[in-house]
Amino acid sequence: MNPHTATPRILDGIAIAAGIKAEVAHQVRQLGPQGITPGLAVILVGDVPASQIYVRSKVKTCGELGIYSEMITPPETITTEEMLDLIAKLNAREDIDGILIQLPLPAHVDTRRLLEAVAPEKDVDGFHPINAGRLLAEGYSGATTSRSGKLALAPCTPAGIMEILRRSDIPIAGKNAVVIGRSDIVGKPAASMLLNASATVTVCHSRTHNLARFTREADILVAAIGRSGFVTPDMIKPGATLIDVGINRITDQSQVDEFFPGDEARAALFAKRGSTVVGDIHPAAFALSGAYTPVPGGVGALTIAMLMQNTVTAARSRRSTLDRA
Ligand code: NDP
Repeated sequence: MNPHTATPRILDGIAIAAGIKAEVAHQVRQLGPQGITPGLAVILVGDVPASQIYVRSKVKTCGELGIYSEMITPPETITTEEMLDLIAKLNAREDIDGILIQLPLPAHVDTRRLLEAVAPEKDVDGFHPINAGRLLAEGYSGATTSRSGKLALAPCTPAGIMEILRRSDIPIAGKNAVVIGRSDIVGKPAASMLLNASATVTVCHSRTHNLARFTREADILVAAIGRSGFVTPDMIKPGATLIDVGINRITDQSQVDEFFPGDEARAALFAKRGSTVVGDIHPAAFALSGAYTPVPGGVGALTIAMLMQNTVTAARSRRSTLDRA
């Protein structure tokens, strides 16, 4: 099949996430007879509306899958020392398997110190240096696989990207993978996981010269930049797999016209809500791809599913005999 003319495949993140959540719910049911209910504590500091939305949907998903969850909401004025006390108490609790600190934290709090205070075996976001180091040293290429069989708590968004690729049968080994973005949360761990899965990986960032030279070689292109429609059709290799991590809210009619010309459903949504989201890849580039993740409904859908998987993995690893059978 000629990829230039083939209709691109939409990689449906919502359907893939639903499959993972069903698997997680099954794992939770298996733990029941051992008297184990996986538990997640989510710390939400202050009053950030976007964070409140994210946290509520994490707590809701826990409920749907049979995971116990606890939302802790300290005031904006909490100090680093008080946060350290709170984390120490959660580290010591037998019924809490995962601790998630919703970011961003207020500027006066030492975020790095707090992330390092979370017990690595309860670090379901995969941000602790021990888990980041294991990702590099032990060759994880997803949420629960490690060469040594050690607990693999990998960051949720890149782990979700790997699940999308694997469950969609997109070949990775030997392919050119280009990641745009080098954040600790997405770009760097995504590059590590793709490398661990034997792709030939290039990481681009804001100081990369002639970025399109690299992206045009990509069989798999991961865009994690935070800029609306940054990757344009001339920057991609026809037939490539495009993974769009970006979530950029647009509020100007002119941007809606630029990114979604003739898309009546999008226009109606925009008219109703006054905003819509676009990824880091220009939607016009999707038409040239072999497969792509839509925004919304692509990578974003996986992040919470992988958090749930990490919570159950942490519970199994710390408390269950299932993994030792
Ligand atoms: P960061 O802001 O932490 O990192 C952005 C990266 O993009 C940086 O490495 C930066 O380079 C690079 N970059 C910025 N401008 C350019 C440019 N002009 N050319 C090349 N590279 C550039 O963002 P995150 O990684 O946290 O998030 C990226 C996007 O993904 C955002 O839209 C965010 O909303 C979304 N996101 C989505 C999630 C989901 O669940 N779907 C989860 C997390 C994030 P440099 O390092 O040189 O500054």
